[in-house]
Amino acid sequence: MIDHYLPRPVYALTPFTMLDYPQKTACIIWFAKCNMRCAYCHNPDIVDGQGKMGENDILGFLIRRQGLLDGVVISGGEATFYKNLPFLLRQIKKMGFSIKLDSNGTYPEVIKELFENQLIDYLALDYKASPCKFQKVTGVGRRMWDKFQETLDYLCANQQDKFEVRTTIHTELLKETDINSIIADLETKNYKGVYYLQNYQHKEDGTLGDMIEQVKKFNPDLIQEVSGFEIEYRNF
Ligand code: SF4
Repeated sequence: MIDHYLPRPVYALTPFTMLDYPQKTACIIWFAKCNMRCAYCHNPDIVDGQGKMGENDILGFLIRRQGLLDGVVISGGEATFYKNLPFLLRQIKKMGFSIKLDSNGTYPEVIKELFENQLIDYLALDYKASPCKFQKVTGVGRRMWDKFQETLDYLCANQQDKFEVRTTIHTELLKETDINSIIADLETKNYKGVYYLQNYQHKEDGTLGDMIEQVKKFNPDLIQEVSGFEIEYRNF
């Protein structure tokens, strides 16, 4: 149950990107706060910080961008943590923007509501870790794993062409066997999209859990053959 309402939910706004929404020009809205504590998180200021912008600030900006941008990326933090998200996205859709959501998938009821009311067009879903590593990677426990699985089950059954799955790999946290376990789960669920494996990029001024630089290299040769979907490696 979400009980999180903030008068100023947005930490920052990136006015223009061509990298974060496939095939679209977009802005990025960064929601403050998150229900996870991933050690490698590049956005500790956003996760721990206070929001600085309210809904009217966002809508005012977007009114001035109508006809100039194709889409809006909703990121964070974890935007589905914000109680009023469906209402805000409805206002954004009315202006004609496409919406992509980045999410850790732990609020399945919100994800379902957003898709079933056509309030998002595309979802990038973080598959943080296999169940035995989930707490180590995210700092949260079994209940959140179950919520994530509920989201993934829903998406695989109902929204195959509207989402992608991605995992960030730091070799201190995840091994090749963990990725093979995730792949097996995606195959079981009949996932049809692209599975993006993202190599951790070190951040000199610190991550949420002061993650050290990777020493061991991840070996893609140890990743099993997949059927039904593709794997794409980023920054390896
Ligand atoms: S990386 Fe983890 S802690 Fe950071 S915003 Fe994403 S889910 Fe939250």
